[in-house]
Amino acid sequence: MGRSTLTVGPYEVALTRKNIRRAYLRVGPDGGVCVSAPARMPVGEVARFVEGHVAWIEERRRRIAQARAVHAVPGAGAGGAVTPGTRGGAVGGMGEPAAPYDPHVLPDGRVLLWGEPVEATRVLALARAVTGGPVGRPVTHASAVTRTALDRAMRSVLLGAATPLVRTWEPRLGVAVATLRIHDTRSRWGSCNVRTHAVNLSLALLHHPRRYLELVVVHELTHLLEPTHNARFHALMASELPNYRALQTELNARGRGMW
Ligand SMILES: [Zn+2]
Repeated sequence: MGRSTLTVGPYEVALTRKNIRRAYLRVGPDGGVCVSAPARMPVGEVARFVEGHVAWIEERRRRIAQARAVHAVPGAGAGGAVTPGTRGGAVGGMGEPAAPYDPHVLPDGRVLLWGEPVEATRVLALARAVTGGPVGRPVTHASAVTRTALDRAMRSVLLGAATPLVRTWEPRLGVAVATLRIHDTRSRWGSCNVRTHAVNLSLALLHHPRRYLELVVVHELTHLLEPTHNARFHALMASELPNYRALQTELNARGRGMW
C-alpha cells in the first residue's frame, strides 16, 4: 500500500503501509530496520514504536553480525555461498516472514532481562525466588514456558527489584508510596499519581540495565514533591542522584520520550 523511508534516531526505517491492525518490526539480513504499519497509524506513532524497541533492534543486529562472522569462511569461493546483506535496502521479500511482534520475547525465544538476553526459564526461576513460591509450574524447558507465566514472572522480578528501592527512597525523600504497580506500557518508563500516591513502572524497564530502575524510581517519587518537570524538580533530582542527567540521557537514547 505504499513504501517510504522514515528517519528515527540513527535508523533509516523502511516503512510499508499495509491493511493490518498493528505494527510489525523486522531487522533484515543487512541490518536494515523495516516496519509494516497500519495504513492510518500516524508517523509519530510509528517512530515511537521503533524508538521503544531500540534494545531489541540492537540485539538483533548483534546476532546478525555474529552469524555473518561465523559464516564468513575465508577462502570460500563462489560455490553457492550465501552472503547476507547483498540485497540492499529493499523491503519486499527480505528476510523471514514477519512474526507478530512481541516486545518481551526475542525472536530466538529468549527474554531481555536487565539488558541481557536470558532463557525464559531463568526469569521464572528468579520470580520464584522473589515471590517465595511457584509462579506457574516449575519448568525446565523454554518451550514449556507459557506466555502468561512469563508475563507474570517478569512482573514479579521487576516488582521484586523495585520494592526495596522504593522503601529506601521513601524516607530519603520524605514521601510515602501507597501502591506500586507494574504496567506493560510502552510509552512511559513510569508514572505517578500525586493525589493517590500510586506509582506505576513499565515492564519495559526489564529490557535495560538495572541501573536505570533506580533513576525511574527516584524520578517518580520526586514527583510526589514536585509534580512537574520544572527547575525545582531537576534541582531535587540532582541533589539526590548526582549522575541523574547522564543516566537519563542514556535511558532516553534507549526509548526516547518515555517520561
Ligand atoms: Zn516525570
